[in-house]
Parts: sequence; structure tokens; C-alpha cells
Amino acid sequence: MKEIIKICIKHGSLTKELVIKSRINSKGKRTYRCKICMKIQHKNHYEKNKLKILSKNKKYFDEHPDFKNRSKRKMYKLNPKKYIAKSVKWDKENRERKKDRQKKFKTEAVSNLFKSYVKQTLVRGTNLMHKDLSDELVNLAKAVFTLKRKIKNDT
Ligand SMILES: [Zn+2]
Repeated sequence: MKEIIKICIKHGSLTKELVIKSRINSKGKRTYRCKICMKIQHKNHYEKNKLKILSKNKKYFDEHPDFKNRSKRKMYKLNPKKYIAKSVKWDKENRERKKDRQKKFKTEAVSNLFKSYVKQTLVRGTNLMHKDLSDELVNLAKAVFTLKRKIKNDT
């Protein structure tokens, strides 16, 4: 039989798996808290202070712009398969938003002449591959595209 560590008024006898370690009391004895109650308490705290917590988080993210990416990269490294599956699932469930994202990326790629866009334009209708195009060639093409656009806009 499992040892009962704590008795919660709401949730009864609790074993090791159902408690969280808390402070050491004045008699030098470890105290425990009910996991379920703590969860509810945290949730209530969050609901009550949602705006405050969210704005505090936002402030932190604004001040540490690479934080999200850093933790994302870390997560990805730990379990790439899981991460990719998750992102594929999200895309499936959010087709419209995926489309919007792709559209936005395409617009940006076209107007800023991303390397990938320039290469794609250059290989179209040929049997060249992206890897066949040197950076020098891409930059040359970029200059030509920019020139063409300028002429089109000025006339
Ligand atoms: Zn409890």
C-alpha cells in the first residue's frame, strides 16, 4: 500500500504522486500541498490576473526578442519529429491562416527580392536547379529585376 503523505480537505488522502513539496515548517518538517488544489489555485490566479500576466509576459518578450525563437529552437532540437508533426497538424487545422502566411511570405519575397524568389524565377522554364546559381548570379539578377521595376515605375 502506498504511503499517505497528506490529507486534503477537498481531495482526501494523497500519495507521493498527488502532492507538491512545500516549505519546511517551524518544527523542521517538510510540508506538502495538494497538487490538484495547487493547479486550481494557479488557474484561478491566472484567470484573475490574466491581463496583468499577459502584459508582463509581452513586456519580457519585447525586451528579449530572441527568447521565443531560442526556446523554440531548443524544443525542436530535443524532439524534431514531434515538433514537425505538431506544426503539420496545426497547418491542417488552420488552413486559412497557413494560406495567409504563405501569401504574406510570397508578397515579401517578391517585393524584397529574396534569394529563393530570384532563383525560382531564374530556373523557371529551364532545366537548371537552385544550386546551379551562384550568389554572384543571383545578385546580378536582383540588380536587373530592380532596374526593370524602376523603369516600369518611372514610365
Ligand atoms: Zn486538494
